[in-house]
Amino acid sequence: MKTKTLVLFKSPLGAPVKVIKQIFTAFKGRPVKRVSFVTGLHGDELEGLVLCHRLIQALRQLKQTQPEAFLGDIHIYPAANPSAVNSATRLWPFYSEDMNRTFGQGSGDSVPVQVSRALFEDLKAHSDLAVDIHSSNKHLLELPQIRIIENFAGTLVPLAEQTCADLIWVHPMAGLFESTLGYNLNLAKIPTLVIETGICLRIHPEFGDQLFHGMMHWLNHIGVLAIRNTPAKYIKAPRIIYPNQVALAMARQSGLFVGQARLGSQVKQGDPLGQMLNPMTGEVLEEVVSPGTGLLFTLRQLPLVYAGGLLARVALDREPEP
Ligand SMILES: [Zn+2]
Repeated sequence: MKTKTLVLFKSPLGAPVKVIKQIFTAFKGRPVKRVSFVTGLHGDELEGLVLCHRLIQALRQLKQTQPEAFLGDIHIYPAANPSAVNSATRLWPFYSEDMNRTFGQGSGDSVPVQVSRALFEDLKAHSDLAVDIHSSNKHLLELPQIRIIENFAGTLVPLAEQTCADLIWVHPMAGLFESTLGYNLNLAKIPTLVIETGICLRIHPEFGDQLFHGMMHWLNHIGVLAIRNTPAKYIKAPRIIYPNQVALAMARQSGLFVGQARLGSQVKQGDPLGQMLNPMTGEVLEEVVSPGTGLLFTLRQLPLVYAGGLLARVALDREPEP
């Protein structure tokens, strides 16, 4: 493993801040493919740090015991936004800038933008494929899933099918994606999978295990590694869903949501998901029920909810009747 410092800048008091990457090169000759893993664009999303740790640990060991298993190059950027990771904030501190909204054209010349540019250029120069790992915000817990903008579905869905995630969610393009890393890499013809898993500021070891084995399985599938050691229990075909297969449970009124369903369970339309409470009067405002039959893949964790807030998402088994 080689460590490369991609960017080094100094804080106002002179302390150096580095963006680094870890590099594992092919055993001999030209790499069949070059794959990059990026995480920590949002500093409060920690599930990706664990996944990168697991990958670096396993690949270091593999380099020692079976170096010939490396047919391609693997680049891992374990903390793309170290300033934000160090303070456990989504935004880049001081600038209050969302680093995953600084890619693409016309984003100015602040330090976050300069770092984004350096990261993007490095990824472009050294990747044939990429994976950008995120967690949810503080409101919602998510099953491990790959999110795909429909414009790129033709290339990305077959790749995502080999990641052993629970779900592949193909969704329409929206303006806010234009300045994200994933969109811009895909636009630059570097197929990039965006993972969404767990919740910010927390770690779910079971999701980390699933994604670690899923990524190793995927690296084998695309020919970057030549080892077959994915435990059978982790091998699964993700469920592929399109926008009309996502049913939402929303809060009808403001209150406290107390969930009772288990994320990842198969629910039927009308099954209880939890209750909305009025803590001031002791009333139960609403029995929240499943909006459809399918896989419960998003569940609210922050109990305080305003009317219209999202409580749960269900991946429907069948497309609804038009
Ligand atoms: Zn994120």
